[in-house]
Amino acid sequence: MGGAAAGGPLGEWGTAPGRLTGVTIAAAGPARDHCCVDLQVVEQVAELGAWISEGGVVILSGAGLSTDSGIPDYRGPSGSARRSTPMTYQAFTRDPVARRRYWARSHLGWRTIGEAFPNDGHRAVAALQGCGVIDGIITQNVDGLHQAAGASGVVELHGNLTRIVCLDCGDLTAREALAARLDEANPAFDAAAVAINADGDAELDDTDLDRFTVVDCLSCGGMLKPDVVYFGETVPPERVSRSFALVGNARTLLVLGSSLTVMSGRRFVLRAVKEGIRVAIVNRGVTRGEPYAGLHIDAPLGIVLPHLAGETAGEMSAPIRI
Ligand SMILES: [Zn+2]
Repeated sequence: MGGAAAGGPLGEWGTAPGRLTGVTIAAAGPARDHCCVDLQVVEQVAELGAWISEGGVVILSGAGLSTDSGIPDYRGPSGSARRSTPMTYQAFTRDPVARRRYWARSHLGWRTIGEAFPNDGHRAVAALQGCGVIDGIITQNVDGLHQAAGASGVVELHGNLTRIVCLDCGDLTAREALAARLDEANPAFDAAAVAINADGDAELDDTDLDRFTVVDCLSCGGMLKPDVVYFGETVPPERVSRSFALVGNARTLLVLGSSLTVMSGRRFVLRAVKEGIRVAIVNRGVTRGEPYAGLHIDAPLGIVLPHLAGETAGEMSAPIRI
């Protein structure tokens, strides 16, 4: 019987969210080759569960963890190619037109990120942390969803879109407050944005972008910027050294939802390998960390992580059987 079409691991698991048991596999796998694929993943997940139960896990998470929350992963298998080139720090600070256009797009994009909720994967990570098996969480995501799910002590490598920083006085403010100010300053833009969302696949044209009114720091009148690391900017050294320290003391580095395309994240995997620390990756699709990983599980995070959290918490007593 031919492979991927009817069902496949994803479709079969989809019938029983959060459950990854022998019973589910047996009931849902009519074709022998499907069983084999499923069982391989089940065995991998069981091995990862054993690693996690030993404690000392450091998480490195990427965009793939937040796709179930409706935040697009531009690099992953479910993401589309990025339509506009990413803003650089140099362009943002030196080019008023580029900055105005950036803020217009960013204000529109905030509606997605600002309304996003943590998903089962984020909650499972927080639950694992609650079990005491996680020594640190490093994230490449800027959505704040780990913390929204209840995780603490998260190292946000690339910052957090929910914060705004003043480049002149350093004042940190909430994105919500800025969004309200931008809404107030741009009533006409609001209407244009709604029309474009309905179409689903259009970009604001430059005329709309150039009409956008940018606002400045309420404390000093200085230039405001989302508190995230742009292309052309370096990650603050303190965050990097904290992350390396966490990885260096880990028993397992667990990469979640990252293709490890950028060195910003991949360097931690390379460091772990150099230190003889085992690496596990759970991600949909291929990753650049695959050659270094003792375990690479190509499966949905929203299924695997709740299973692992449940098992670790002792809530799932049924063993995985072949
Ligand atoms: Zn200021």
